[in-house]
Amino acid sequence: MSFEKLNLIEPVMRALASEGYTTPTPIQEQSIPVLLQRKDLLGCAQTGTGKTAAFAIPILQLLHQDELFVKGPDGIKALILTPTRELAIQIDESFRAYGKHLRLRHAVIFGGVPQRSQTDKLRAGVDILVATPGRLLDLMDQRFVKLQNLKMLVLDEADRMLDMGFIHDVKKIIARVPAKRQTIFFSATMPAEISKLADTILTNPVRVEVTPPSSTANTVQQSVYFVEKKDKKKLLLHLLQDDSIATALVFARTKHGADRVVKDLTQAGIRAEAIHGNKSQGARQRALSNFKAQKTRVLVATDIAARGIDVEDLSHVINYELPNIPETYIHRIGRTGRAGASGISLSFCDAEEKAYLSDIHKLIRKTIPTVADHPYHMTHVGMPRPQQQQRQPQSQSRRTGGNNSFRHSQKRWSGERRERND
Ligand code: AMP
Repeated sequence: MSFEKLNLIEPVMRALASEGYTTPTPIQEQSIPVLLQRKDLLGCAQTGTGKTAAFAIPILQLLHQDELFVKGPDGIKALILTPTRELAIQIDESFRAYGKHLRLRHAVIFGGVPQRSQTDKLRAGVDILVATPGRLLDLMDQRFVKLQNLKMLVLDEADRMLDMGFIHDVKKIIARVPAKRQTIFFSATMPAEISKLADTILTNPVRVEVTPPSSTANTVQQSVYFVEKKDKKKLLLHLLQDDSIATALVFARTKHGADRVVKDLTQAGIRAEAIHGNKSQGARQRALSNFKAQKTRVLVATDIAARGIDVEDLSHVINYELPNIPETYIHRIGRTGRAGASGISLSFCDAEEKAYLSDIHKLIRKTIPTVADHPYHMTHVGMPRPQQQQRQPQSQSRRTGGNNSFRHSQKRWSGERRERND
């Protein structure tokens, strides 16, 4: 599936190409056509799945097309509510990136900073507003924000809004926007209160979710190394002393993390390159062809950047950081051991990642064998032995999600969110 099939307009396609996006992620593949038909959407997706583009692209395209045909009244046409300042900034940056060849104006508002620059921007005119709920209400009360011409509303990370105590603010805002609108609702989990809110604000929504893969490739020999976060770098260098690791694809959770690993490896004299969303398409392709030609020994990738990477004869996958979405683990290790060839997957697990490991064990229905025989083995108190892992209760309500309509794929949405840095 390529973006061509999604009927996107040329300026958006051009922007995506310059971002280096070639293939839509599953959430994009499912959401974009629905949203372009102006339907409401209930999406189950976490940060890291590409959900921002899944709503930002159709919003840009629809608003652009509307403007072409009828110059509507001025004012905010699309509002994206999101719980944190970091998310707000990144969503706004996504609108900038995907909308760079369009004339739509966007702005971001969040609390904790003086309001002046935000109100200046609002006065100048905004089509797409990204906001955290508290500051938005505040500026609405001061009449800097008027939402009477709103056409599209996005509620991003709805469950986190609930966790952070913003749900009342969100409800107040929704009560003040036009009832006739397109509504997009994203949540990683569907606790009862969130499900109820979705029911009240969506009209005949199309539900989208990504089908989890079911099994781990049997041809991949897997192991886990318990190691303190600070020792991961040393452990990686230690493992790479083994010449039988001809090439390794190393996974990091964030772009910064990936860059850091490359720096550490390069300093130690190991040829390594990173592949992630901040790299241009050209840089990514160069990194990939160097890796395929075995000019670089280690390719360090983030999950989304690694999509579509197909390297023959890849002997090792190293999970420098475990993924918070257990299915991602399966995708990662599936890069090796292709077509019956044997592959090896090594996973580092620090104290904070134990819960991720236990989610992975549940999904693959087995316990990955532990390698304790290494110089950085984490032995301190509080570190459960691997056989205890499977019996660990799920400790936080977010991890189980409770009563919801996405139960069958609940695992996919469980787990803590990773830092949104990717
Ligand atoms: P999100 O889940 O929206 O936070 O997106 C996670 C990361 O994936 C961001 O860094 C995006 O720039 C990147 N991304 C989103 N869609 C794609 C795509 N189709 N191809 C490559 N990268 C993408």
